Amino acid sequence: MNLASPRTVRELLARHGLETKKSLGQNFLVDGNTLRRIVEAAEISPEDSVLEIGTGLGILTRELARRAGRVVTVEIDRSLAPVLEETLRDLVNIQQVFGDFLKQPLAELLPAGDNWKVVANLPYYITTPILFRLLEGPVPLRRLVFLVQKEVAQRAAALPGGKTYGALSVTLQHRCQVQVAGLVPPTVFIPPPKVDSAILVLTPLARTFPEEAEGVFRKLVETAFRYRRKTLANAWSKLNLDWVGPAELNSVWSTLKIDPGIRGECLSVAEFEAVAEHLLAQRR
Ligand code: SAM
Repeated sequence: MNLASPRTVRELLARHGLETKKSLGQNFLVDGNTLRRIVEAAEISPEDSVLEIGTGLGILTRELARRAGRVVTVEIDRSLAPVLEETLRDLVNIQQVFGDFLKQPLAELLPAGDNWKVVANLPYYITTPILFRLLEGPVPLRRLVFLVQKEVAQRAAALPGGKTYGALSVTLQHRCQVQVAGLVPPTVFIPPPKVDSAILVLTPLARTFPEEAEGVFRKLVETAFRYRRKTLANAWSKLNLDWVGPAELNSVWSTLKIDPGIRGECLSVAEFEAVAEHLLAQRR
């Protein structure tokens, strides 16, 4: 069954008496070329298990199931069940879960021991919570490939010094190698969204950063970008960590050779990490 066709998708929706739901971010992919680009970026082999978020009509699910050992796919909209029975019935390595992905217990959804990858044409209204849930979750992931709004991909991959560099850039690059694998126009979806899209590829890094410094790191990033117009000295004076006062911050500036007069948007990910570790060491 070739779902990568506007005609087939319109016919399926009409025959099942369905309309796309804007409130659930339903923009269905109808283009074979985009489909191939997403799946190729994920480099899936039969040894991989894949999680998909947002099954939709099953276009991406089918392509994933053809290449992976197995696919677990989560869809919130139960009214799509009759369509999926039709579009996925010939594939045996798909486990369909109906429910809100943000409420699924991840350890149950992604049993340990498999090589997990995540591939999804994301519902754009919950992109950030989905990303953080996966990256901070209990299961190690090999690679994550997402179709996201272009601006989100640009922020994810931004380097220090520009307007797009912010909390999302630092938090993702702290954990992953971040790459934008190409832009995608609105015309490849039904209905076309109002924004351009991009393929975002996240490859988790081997963890060397101490787990106990994560909380401090998060606070430093949040505070630096909540007050992004202020200098680091001013922003971090509002850090609200009970053992960090002017003396500890002075030690950051002098030991790590960071200029207290710069803004957070000029600080590299490695520098944020170094500050977190330095402050944590002073608590002990
Ligand atoms: N994968 C399909 C495709 O490429 O055509 C559908 C992509 S569409 C952009 C996003 C899908 O996510 C929709 O089918 C929508 O119903 C589903 N969705 C929205 N919120 C969700 C949630 N919280 N949990 C699981 N699925 C969700």
